[in-house]
Amino acid sequence: MIPGAFEYLRPETLKEAIQLLQENREEAVLLAGGHSLLPILKARLAQPGILIDISRIPGLKGIGREEEALLIGGMTTHHEIKSAPEVAELCPILAEAASQIGDVQVRNRGTIGGSLAHADPSADYPAVLIALDAEFVVTGPEGARSCRAENFFEGPFDTAMEETEILTSIIVPAPRRKIGGAYCKTAQQASGFAVCGVAAAIVLGAGGEVEFASVGVTGVSASPYRAVEVESALSGQPPSAENIEAAANRVTDDIEPIEDLYGSAEFRSHLTRVWTKRALERAVQMVDS
Ligand SMILES: Cc1cc2nc3c(=O)[nH]c(=O)nc-3n(C[C@H](O)[C@H](O)[C@H](O)COP(=O)(O)OP(=O)(O)OC[C@H]3O[C@@H](n4cnc5c(N)ncnc54)[C@H](O)[C@@H]3O)c2cc1C
Repeated sequence: MIPGAFEYLRPETLKEAIQLLQENREEAVLLAGGHSLLPILKARLAQPGILIDISRIPGLKGIGREEEALLIGGMTTHHEIKSAPEVAELCPILAEAASQIGDVQVRNRGTIGGSLAHADPSADYPAVLIALDAEFVVTGPEGARSCRAENFFEGPFDTAMEETEILTSIIVPAPRRKIGGAYCKTAQQASGFAVCGVAAAIVLGAGGEVEFASVGVTGVSASPYRAVEVESALSGQPPSAENIEAAANRVTDDIEPIEDLYGSAEFRSHLTRVWTKRALERAVQMVDS
């Protein structure tokens, strides 16, 4: 399939890219790795008049470490995230999720900024970044602002970003204490997108009780979400099999699971409970080891 005609622009700086977005608000879209946008253009689900390629803007790519956080540029690819020693050391569940995205081709071209901005409700990163309480830095005509991961996704393919903003970096807080984490997913057979993906992070207190638990879920509802009911059910409790199972059973409380060709709402609910339990169990094992 062949996309409709468009003008191709390749700004050299972030400022120039934002200006182009401002000037062409109605007809321009950003092009990053193209792995979500190009299929859409080819299927003619969208026909923008202008593509603004941000792939060569300096400073948008790469992974850096600060004392209290990991900084990931919006144009960093899934492969780079999967392979970076800093990610493996500070946020191994992010590397785990990146390694499960699509196939080699998708991981080599697709970017974290593109994935988050596209906000596919079955994308992998949102579950992990919500569980890790990451912040997304978006830059627009008024400068940069940051948004917590759990407040960023507003619906399928909809985010808290303005049309003239670019997702420039992701800040993942580095854990001060030993943290256990796991990402568990059932993938769509053809693409690898999540039918259900659950990320869990756990910190245990001195007495072995759960001091902190965090759970992010993707693929299950219209937007990825933080499973606060699970977190509060586990908080302060010993991480026994019974407590984990009881907490995991609350993961779809107040959620309307979606129904599609990959599963009914009932099936998705069940899957989510099972993956939440296993992700929490793996996280506890990791923090114990
Ligand atoms: C076969 C296949 C399998 C896949 N499997 C998975 C999977 O298993 N799990 C998964 O999570 N994803 C999967 N994906 C999606 C993949 O991860 C994409 O790379 C990602 O969703 C989009 O990133 P991109 O860099 O390619 O963005 P593009 O396709 O270039 O852009 C996507 C959208 O985001 C906007 N955009 C891009 N970058 C920015 C930015 N920095 N700031 C603001 N807006 C921006 C664009 O304007 C566009 O609207 C798959 C894709 C394919 C084709």
